[in-house]
Parts: sequence; structure tokens; C-alpha cells
Amino acid sequence: MELICATTNRDKLAEFLAMLDGVADLLARPESVGEIPEDAGTFVGNARLKAHGISQAIGKPALGDDSGLEVAALGGAPGVNSVDYGGPQRSYRDNCARVLAEMNGKTDRRARFRTVLVVAWPDGDEIVAEGVCEGLITDREIGERGFGYDAIFVPDIAPGILRNSTPQRTFAEMSMGEKNLVSHRSRALENLLQMLREMI
Ligand code: IMP
Repeated sequence: MELICATTNRDKLAEFLAMLDGVADLLARPESVGEIPEDAGTFVGNARLKAHGISQAIGKPALGDDSGLEVAALGGAPGVNSVDYGGPQRSYRDNCARVLAEMNGKTDRRARFRTVLVVAWPDGDEIVAEGVCEGLITDREIGERGFGYDAIFVPDIAPGILRNSTPQRTFAEMSMGEKNLVSHRSRALENLLQMLREMI
């Protein structure tokens, strides 16, 4: 199956490509398709806007996604504002710095990453899948890998899931393969693929 990927974020695209290897052909979105506004105010609304916008423009099935970090002590922020929480320059560093500053002195460190995926077809049909990864916010950036908020997020990992696992590592201390075993994005994709298989 060929899917046009709505995201232009190279970091997310790399994770999707690694996870979909051999399952579906994910094609980059043609540059001729202009920006699609992400102003629905919810993850699912934004993912739908992207998937349907691309699918209608190209006439092929498209994968839209939206994701972000929800911090309990910040009332769910940054949430749908994850991309520019630290300012309009959309810097990963500034985004992490703002969360760390707002979490300074807070004892409740619980947070979760959430991803919503939508596949839309040109006739308007769609399927929606979600994935969540629970974890804790650190008190500083730790690790050099990954992207976004990876360096300030330690996922809850059930014992035995990662081999040779040192507990309490941020996503930024993990290889992409390790992150993809437990991440919100991989869980959403697993749910989506299950739905696609049931349709075939
Ligand atoms: P998007 O709207 O799905 O592109 O995601 C918005 C922002 O959430 C991204 O720019 C990242 O800062 C953050 N984000 C989404 N997924 C991840 C992840 O897997 N790790 C770290 N940050 C993420």
C-alpha cells in the first residue's frame, strides 16, 4: 500500500520509515502541496486536517499525524502547542527550556507523549488511531539523540522490553530502534496497521 506522508518533519518521517519498513510504502509529500493549517485545536483535528488536505490535493491515500507532550503539573501543556511552546522560532532547545523552567520545583513530574494518526482516502473515508507513552519529566536535558522533547522525557518501560536496559533513560539516550519499541508513535502505528489489516 502506498501512503503519502503529510508530515514535513524529518525526525518524525525517519521514525515512520523505520517502523513501516516493508509494511507500507510511505512517500514524501510533493512540494507542490502548500502548507496545511494546523488550527483545529486538538491532536485528532489537526491530524485529520493534514490527512484529508493531502489526500484531496493528490488524489491518493494520505497519512496525517499530530503529536505532542502533555505534562500533568502544567495542566496538559504544551499539548497541541508543543511545536512552538518555547517561541515562534520552533527550537527544540527553547521548547525544552520552557518546560523545564515551568517544572522547576514541581514534585509531580508525570507526563505523556500522545500521537494521533489518520489515514484519509480521496473519497473522504478515514481511519483514526492513537498511541500514548507515559513517563516522567527530568530536571535537565539528558542525552544527545532523538528530537523535540526527547532529552527531558523518561518513558515508563515494563521490565524485559528493552534488552540490556538501564532503567530511567530519556528517549534521547536510546537508539531509534529502542525508542520505537515503546514510543507513542509506534503504538499509534501498531493500532493503525491493525485497522488497515482488518480492512484488507
Ligand atoms: P507535531 O505537531 O506532531 O509535528 O509535533 C509537535 C512537536 O511535538 C514536535 O515539534 C516536537 O517538539 C514534539 N514531539 C512530537 N513527537 C515527539 C517525540 O517523539 N519526541 C520528542 N518530541 C516530540
